[in-house]
Amino acid sequence: MSVIARLTAGRPEARRIAEFLERDFGEDGVAVAFFEAGQNWSVEAWFPEGTPETIATTVRDHLGADAFAAPIITETVPETDWVTESQKGLTPVVAGRFIVYGSHSRRHIPAGRIGIRIDAGQAFGTGHHGTTAGCLEILDQLCRSRRFHNPLDLGTGSGVLAIALAKLLKVPVLASDIDPLAIKVARENAALNHVGPLVRPLTAPGLHHATVRQRAPFDLIVANILAEPLMALAPQVTRMLAPGGNLLLSGLLPRQRERVTAAYQRQGLHFRGATIHSGWAVLIFARPAPPPEPYW
Ligand code: SAH
Repeated sequence: MSVIARLTAGRPEARRIAEFLERDFGEDGVAVAFFEAGQNWSVEAWFPEGTPETIATTVRDHLGADAFAAPIITETVPETDWVTESQKGLTPVVAGRFIVYGSHSRRHIPAGRIGIRIDAGQAFGTGHHGTTAGCLEILDQLCRSRRFHNPLDLGTGSGVLAIALAKLLKVPVLASDIDPLAIKVARENAALNHVGPLVRPLTAPGLHHATVRQRAPFDLIVANILAEPLMALAPQVTRMLAPGGNLLLSGLLPRQRERVTAAYQRQGLHFRGATIHSGWAVLIFARPAPPPEPYW
C-alpha cells in the first residue's frame, strides 16, 4: 500500500525537510515535493510501500527536532491497476489526471482520467521520463486552482504536454521545438489525440518566432529542456510571461536547482516551489502581478 506523508512548515524548514527526505529516501523510489501553501510551505513525500503508522514513525525519527515544528499527516493512497502498472515501468503512465498510453496498450480510460495517446517514436516525451511525468502532475495541480487561457509548451518534443493542456483546458496551445522532426511528430500526435485544431506546433529556437511574439504574453509557460539552455533562456522566457503568469521548468537535476532558480529570480520571478520526480526536479515560478491601480 502506498502512503503519502504531508507536513507544513516555514519555507527554510520545509526546504530543509524536503532535501533531507529526498536525500535519504529518494533512492527507495520516494517522490518528494515542496511548494507554497498559503502562508506556509508544504512538503509531501510519497512512499511506494508502508502503512500510515510506520511511515509517520519513519519520517518523525528521521526529522528529529524538525518533526516537532511540523506535525506529520499520513494517509494511504488507493492503488489502482493503472498506478501499479506505471510503477512497474509498464505503459500506461499515470500522472495527475492524465494517463499516457501507447497504441499497443490502448484500453478503457477510467472516468475522471484524461487519456493521451503517444507512441514511442522519434521525439522525446512518452510520459515515462520523470521530467514529463513531473510536469504533467504539476500542470494538473496548477489547472485545478486556476484557469489558463494562453499556454506555451517550449521544447514540445512529442507534444505530450501541449496535448495535455489542450485536453484539460480546451484552449489553443502553442507548442515550439528547435527540432523540425519533433514538430512533425507533435502535429501528428495532436491530430491523433483529437486536439489538432487547438495545438499549434512550430519550429523555433527558444522563443525566436514571429508567432510566439504575436501570441505573447503567455499566462502559462512549460519548458522541459535542460538546465543550461533553461538558464540561457531566462530573460526571453520571463519577457514572454504575463504578469501573474506561471512558469514550469524541468529537465534539471536537484543539484542544478539552485542555479536555475537564481537565474529566474534575477529576472524578477517569484519561486513558488519544486517537486522531485524519479530524480528530476520541476521548478514552479510566478511573475509578480503589479498592484491594482488606485481608482481615485
Ligand atoms: N516537452 C516534452 C519533450 C521534452 S524533451 C516532454 O516534456 O516530454 C526537450 C525538447 O526540447 C526536445 O524535443 C528538444 O528538441 C527541445 N529543445 C531543446 N532546446 C531547445 C531550444 N533552445 N528551443 C526550443 N526547443 C528546444
